[in-house]
Amino acid sequence: MDTNLPVSAHPRVVIVGCGFGGLRLAKELRNAPVQVVVIDRNNYHNFQPLLYQVATGALEADSIAYPIRKIFAGQENFFYRMGDVQRVDTQRNTVVTSVGDIRYDYLVLATGSLTNFFGIESIEKNGMQIKSIPNALNLRSFIFQNFEKALLTENPQERQALLNIVVVGGGPTGVEISGSLAEMRKHVLPKDYPELDMQNMQIFLVEAGPALLGPMSKKSQDDAKRYLDELGVRVRLNTSIKKFEDCRAYFSDTEYIPTENLVWAAGVNGAAVEGIPEQAVTRNKRINVNLWSQVQGFDNVFAIGDVANMVTEDMPKGLPMLAPVAQQQADLLAENLQRILQGQAPVPFKYKNKGVMAIVSRNKAVVDLPKDVHFNGIFGWFTWLFVHLMTLVGFRNKVVAFVDWAFSYFSSDQALRLIIRPFSRKDVKDDKGKKAAEHKTATAEYIPTPPAIQEAAVER
Ligand SMILES: Cc1cc2nc3c(=O)[nH]c(=O)nc-3n(C[C@H](O)[C@H](O)[C@H](O)COP(=O)(O)OP(=O)(O)OC[C@H]3O[C@@H](n4cnc5c(N)ncnc54)[C@H](O)[C@@H]3O)c2cc1C
Repeated sequence: MDTNLPVSAHPRVVIVGCGFGGLRLAKELRNAPVQVVVIDRNNYHNFQPLLYQVATGALEADSIAYPIRKIFAGQENFFYRMGDVQRVDTQRNTVVTSVGDIRYDYLVLATGSLTNFFGIESIEKNGMQIKSIPNALNLRSFIFQNFEKALLTENPQERQALLNIVVVGGGPTGVEISGSLAEMRKHVLPKDYPELDMQNMQIFLVEAGPALLGPMSKKSQDDAKRYLDELGVRVRLNTSIKKFEDCRAYFSDTEYIPTENLVWAAGVNGAAVEGIPEQAVTRNKRINVNLWSQVQGFDNVFAIGDVANMVTEDMPKGLPMLAPVAQQQADLLAENLQRILQGQAPVPFKYKNKGVMAIVSRNKAVVDLPKDVHFNGIFGWFTWLFVHLMTLVGFRNKVVAFVDWAFSYFSSDQALRLIIRPFSRKDVKDDKGKKAAEHKTATAEYIPTPPAIQEAAVER
């Protein structure tokens, strides 16, 4: 029991997850009279907003991750255990983990979110997601592996399927990855693959709703769409991908895009942990909390960040899944835990929206600030770079990211195109450890490309 954690005279706060929320909370408790125990399955903090840059070879994986132990070096009340939390036993005030049981006085769930495939099994098995560093590295390898394969085939339709990329989901991640791929097609790939005709590489961005960047202003939505049009990304709004099988991303039973590469960026669910009663968990697996992050039905269990469903007057559907929400909730919870320990009433949360932004490509980004302030273009792009550089964890990471970005900007090149760990769908296991289903690769039998899509493919 307790994975050899030292006995302390102070109450123990166990934090599950060292993402944006968990990291901030553990730091803010550095001087509090508590023992802080962080459990995360990864021994690093992952800066998710820049995952797409790792996937497209613009940044090294190391520059968006930072070792948890290094972040907390010198914090005397801090302890870390690397493990997977499998279940919470609220009767025994214990979390059951892959490395043993850990007792808590106060428990904070900061487990973030998981990709939501909306029950479409073929996409879960065959599509690529972008939620973790291994996902991003897989995607990078897969794209370049398919380019290498495209050089070898004599079948034009097979070549097109290997080169085509379908990104599903027109939120910031979908927009950012499509823009970045389009830049790669323009500046990087023609130099690396002069034997391939880049006209055959189509980037489709498919969004089920009527606009890109759903929660942003109409102006930002229109600007982002215009930027992507200019880059030659084929944006299809009001369109859903129904399944992805045998190198075809289907809109309907008969209409499809031939592709080996489908990137699923269409939604996430909360990563609710087993053991939290069903009535406290929403349909999209977020945990209902009150305005001081206390989980419905418990005094000593809290949830913050993406996994927490906190409803406020102006956000009746729950606060958005964004890094600043997780961080602000962590700040307040650190204060409230100390208030609770002193027998004082906790203070309710108020979200301070400092704005949202999305980058499309070099010199092109959209920014919405409070009070209806919007800007775009090169100023938006600099704002995006500055904010992301400043929020990266660790001085080394800031320097490496800055150097990589400066190099790309002045050379129109991206240095990171190595296939160090080739990706194979056969190696991928789902959350339950099951192997992915057999997916015919692009060398499988080909059905002719439907006329509508063929036309789109040569129109650029
Ligand atoms: C590709 C992408 C781009 C994004 N871009 C932006 C952006 O530009 N701006 C923005 O504000 N937000 C962005 N977000 C959202 C933002 O990253 C999240 O809102 C934020 O990470 C939420 O923080 P969190 O602490 O709740 O969870 P996370 O940061 O996701 O951290 C959760 C942690 O919990 C750990 N964990 C989970 N379950 C377990 C378990 N059972 N056992 C042990 N450990 C566990 C995970 O390993 C992880 O370290 C983006 C997200 C993605 C995926």
